Parts: sequence; C-alpha cells; structure tokens
Amino acid sequence: MKKFLTIVLASFALMSFAQKANNGSASNEPTVIKWIEDKPGPSFQQHRTFPTVPDNLWNELGFKDGIPSSMSCFLLKTEGKTILLDTGLGAGFSQLIPKLAEDGIKPEDLKLIYITHMHGDHIGGLLKDGKVVFPNAEVYINRIEAEAWKAMPGDRSAQAKKVLEAYKDHLHLFEAGDVLPGNVKSIAAYGHTPGHTAFQKNDILVIGDLMHGAALQLKHPEYNASFDMDQKAAAEARARLIKYARENKLTMYGMHLPSPGNVK
Ligand SMILES: [Zn+2]
Repeated sequence: MKKFLTIVLASFALMSFAQKANNGSASNEPTVIKWIEDKPGPSFQQHRTFPTVPDNLWNELGFKDGIPSSMSCFLLKTEGKTILLDTGLGAGFSQLIPKLAEDGIKPEDLKLIYITHMHGDHIGGLLKDGKVVFPNAEVYINRIEAEAWKAMPGDRSAQAKKVLEAYKDHLHLFEAGDVLPGNVKSIAAYGHTPGHTAFQKNDILVIGDLMHGAALQLKHPEYNASFDMDQKAAAEARARLIKYARENKLTMYGMHLPSPGNVK
C-alpha cells in the first residue's frame, strides 16, 4: 500500500511539473491570428447596402462589382490558448470546420469562443441541425448583446435564442471592458447590434462588423450599412475605433473585410 501511494504521489508531482513546463513554453509562443474565410470568396457589397451614400460618391469609388468584402471568422492563438472569434454562417458552403481541420483542430478540441454579436453569419456555426457543434467550448458573449436578443420578439431572434439555450451551461456573459482568458480585452462597439463588441490583444483589434465596406467606411465612417441596427451609435463606434486603431498602430481584423481580412 505504501509503495502504491508513493508511486501515485510521484506521478502527481511529475504531472504538475509537466503542466508547468507546458504552460511555460506555451506562453512564450508568439500571438498569432489566422483569417478564416467562412464563405468562399470573393464577396462584394452593393450600393443598396449603403443607402445614404450619394451616387456621385459611390461612382467616385470606382468599384464595378461593388465594394470588396467577405464573410469571415478568426482563430487567435495566444498564451497557450486557442480562441475562435465568431463562427460564421454554418451554411452548406461554410469553410470554418474544414479550415480548423487544416490546423489539426477538431470541433471538440476548441475550449474558447468569443462572439462579437449575435447575427446569423457570426453564430450560425455554433449549431448544426439544432445541435451543439463545439461541446467543450466556453462561449463568451457581451451581456447587453445576449439580453437584447433574448428580449427581441419574433423570428429575428429565434436563432440567437436557440444558441443561448443550447450553450447555457457553457455561457459567459461579460461586461464591456472585461478582460477575457488569454488577456483579450473586450471593447464596446455598440450600434451595429445593441452589444456589438470588439476584442483587442496587443496590436490586434478584432472589429466584428464595424465595417461592411472598408474601402468606403475607412474614409467615410459616417456612412452605415443598412444592417446597422442603431445608425447613429454605429457611426460613432466606427469613427471612435478607427481613430483608436490608428493612434495606437493596431491592425484591424474584421469579419467583412476583404482578403486578407485585415487592414491597418
Ligand atoms: Zn456580419
């Protein structure tokens, strides 16, 4: 019995050493972010998406096919953690799962998912045929965003409600400004949706749906997409975060930015 106990204690000691060594080496790895284009591109946004843009400005932009865009999510690796930022549309064409597989990541391996907001092209990948796709993931959503969709009547909120219910035992509702695992800071970018949130890690700023037509909105943040729920707040958030990124030399990663999914 005594011998058995000694072996057990020794293996615990070894295990904790192994974990420390592992954490130590992992945290020394550089932070990297990978663009995952969920909808095979290229995608374009048309003038009707930006209804307040006058014809002469639209024509000046000179885009024959519309403004280059995408439907994307991101995989952030930092401090030994692998974090998925949004989950795409979860449609037949969606590339999220095969692109994770290219990195050797199976859905059950993912432990952390941060959601910018609860539109279908960002939360659609969380469920397949009504079932949880990432059974071991902790899902982080801004409290204001989750509560707004819960309170919203009708068909528009059905998908968000299903997601909140399906992941309720793994749901973490955070407040804007909270620092999430991996030292990722959440930043209020309200307007596109009530609790639309950006995430910052070092010089990486994930901006969600702050811009649907970067070629227009980087120069003219005052112009909203028709999808922006609170038009005034959306324009203010866009102007504020673009200024913040420029002043702090951050690279912006957006879910509807064209290839390669980021802009300085
Ligand atoms: Zn979107």
